[in-house]
Amino acid sequence: MDSPDYIATALQAIRQERGWSLDRASKATGVSKAMLGQIERGESSPTLATLWKLATGFQISLSHLLQPTITPPGGVQLRSADRLRHRPTTDPMLVAPLFPYDPAFGFELLELTLPPGYERLSAPHDAGVTEHVTLIRGQMAVKVGEAWVELHMGDALRFNADQPHGYRCCGGEPAVFHNLIHYRYTR
Ligand code: MN
Repeated sequence: MDSPDYIATALQAIRQERGWSLDRASKATGVSKAMLGQIERGESSPTLATLWKLATGFQISLSHLLQPTITPPGGVQLRSADRLRHRPTTDPMLVAPLFPYDPAFGFELLELTLPPGYERLSAPHDAGVTEHVTLIRGQMAVKVGEAWVELHMGDALRFNADQPHGYRCCGGEPAVFHNLIHYRYTR
């Protein structure tokens, strides 16, 4: 996100809703109290790794911290990745929340763009979180547990994301993929 304002507001709201002190939130997420305070005051733009820690600790989806849930009245929704693509953190990965998490559906659909040479390892998400990675452009590999799985354009990979996993761009051009993340959370 261009400004950390939304993240600040979302974090304040969820912590207030839970009635958690900074101390409790810090223990649940593994993010220091000082950092939590900075994020809530909009003084610090969290890294993607920190965002994932927050999402996992609060048991909310990543997109809950990036963009408000949208529930369209008519059921038909056209979303443009070109307009949604942004760099939510200092991480060079681009994120387009095509369909932010909606409890009615139980998943979020992200378009992610990895620059050449990029590799990111992700901590396990909560039990029951499943990722569906579909490579739409470029070359990439996905790490599941200890093994890297190479994907070719059009390949789709489903894995349990409650284990260490990662993403790597293997080619000289950016790798673009869709990640459908299915949650058991209610929000
Ligand atoms: Mn993940």
